Amino acid sequence: MARILAIHAHPDDAEFLAGGTLALLADRGHEITIATMTPGDCGSAELGPEEIAAVRRREAANAAALIGAKYLCVEMRDLTIFNDHPSRRCVTEILRKTRPELVLTAAPVDYLCDHEAASALVRDACFGAPAPNYRTHAEAPAPILDRIPHLYFMDPLAGRDREGQLVEPDFIVNVAGTFARKREMLAQHASQRRWLEQHHGTDDYLDQMERWTRERGQLAGVPYGEGFRKYRGHPYPQSGWLEELLGTEAVLFRKQIP
Ligand SMILES: [Zn+2]
Repeated sequence: MARILAIHAHPDDAEFLAGGTLALLADRGHEITIATMTPGDCGSAELGPEEIAAVRRREAANAAALIGAKYLCVEMRDLTIFNDHPSRRCVTEILRKTRPELVLTAAPVDYLCDHEAASALVRDACFGAPAPNYRTHAEAPAPILDRIPHLYFMDPLAGRDREGQLVEPDFIVNVAGTFARKREMLAQHASQRRWLEQHHGTDDYLDQMERWTRERGQLAGVPYGEGFRKYRGHPYPQSGWLEELLGTEAVLFRKQIP
């Protein structure tokens, strides 16, 4: 069974963009960790940063538990994620501790600075994690990885870049069978739903996710879908392992997308 790490910027991002795929992988017996760079400490108009962080860590752990996954937080802070040396050390240590063979992370281009920085950090930490001379200076450093893990990018939020252009995925995962669980996972993030209701003035947290997941599915002619792109940089593994783990009935390749 594979060890899989889904690592994104904030609590709820992985559920929004890959919850259905993670549920599919969990059903096949793979070991899944969901990690976030921050505990979402800016996500409240009522609670202070540490109070809301405690709430959101709990919500994220509850969401992960619905598919038998673990949750962990890298403990950076909202709007302060940068691809710098101290942060790269932290993320490398997380990779060495969780020892994933497959990593799913944020899209390189997305609407929010934290998402783009998280994407670059994870990409580069995957490269550094198997390098013995790249030291993290953690108190009890974990052993290096045997090799660079397989790396995939999730969709950007709403499947679009900063100019509103559709970001074409390499393939769509058919998540019709796990969509109800995806919705349930996202519903665990009740404080975020309240925050967005106040901040954006609309309460369509779950419905928005449903709309976006349906739009992604439509690209491949299925009711609900999630898109992924493989990172193709040398010398990251290129074997298409995520597609293999999910199987041909769940993965709709680009050539099948009308
Ligand atoms: Zn986010």
